[in-house]
Amino acid sequence: MKPEEIRLYGDPVLRVRCLPVDAINDDVRTLAAKLVATVDYAQGLGLAAPQIGATWRVIVVVETQDDERKHHVVVNPEIISACGEDISEEGCLSIPGIYASVKRPQSVVVKGLDIAGESITIEASGLMARAFAHEIDHLDGILFIDRLSIVKRGLLRRKLKELKKRAEGKMSSTR
Ligand code: ZN
Repeated sequence: MKPEEIRLYGDPVLRVRCLPVDAINDDVRTLAAKLVATVDYAQGLGLAAPQIGATWRVIVVVETQDDERKHHVVVNPEIISACGEDISEEGCLSIPGIYASVKRPQSVVVKGLDIAGESITIEASGLMARAFAHEIDHLDGILFIDRLSIVKRGLLRRKLKELKKRAEGKMSSTR
């Protein structure tokens, strides 16, 4: 599977509330494979469907252990419980070059379906919990910069504007 182009900040698809998947079919399996191929190509820790232009509730979170990358593809993911608080620096493949500290739960329990359609529950903490929270936000059109204070976002305004311009230029040249 070839990696897909990652949609950048400014692309309206990143603001869409994605639809739940009601049946795991070939389209969903293909979407999952594309997410995995793209997140690996970008060497990211997670990716959500809208980042490659699909508006279904599907994410992948990568667990790294030594040099191994284990992919957790979750369909219709939901955080069913969260605990603690952790403030760490975060970035996003759709917002390249911008990093900021974001408050996230220290640990989460995520429920959803795997790619075989089986119900799964994943307990995650630290970086993985952060990745799940970040990717699930994407499915509701929420970006990590939305979780910053107005002051912090203000400091990033110019950089974000430049990114948006770039994304808009890209969109008009491909359509
Ligand atoms: Zn992201």
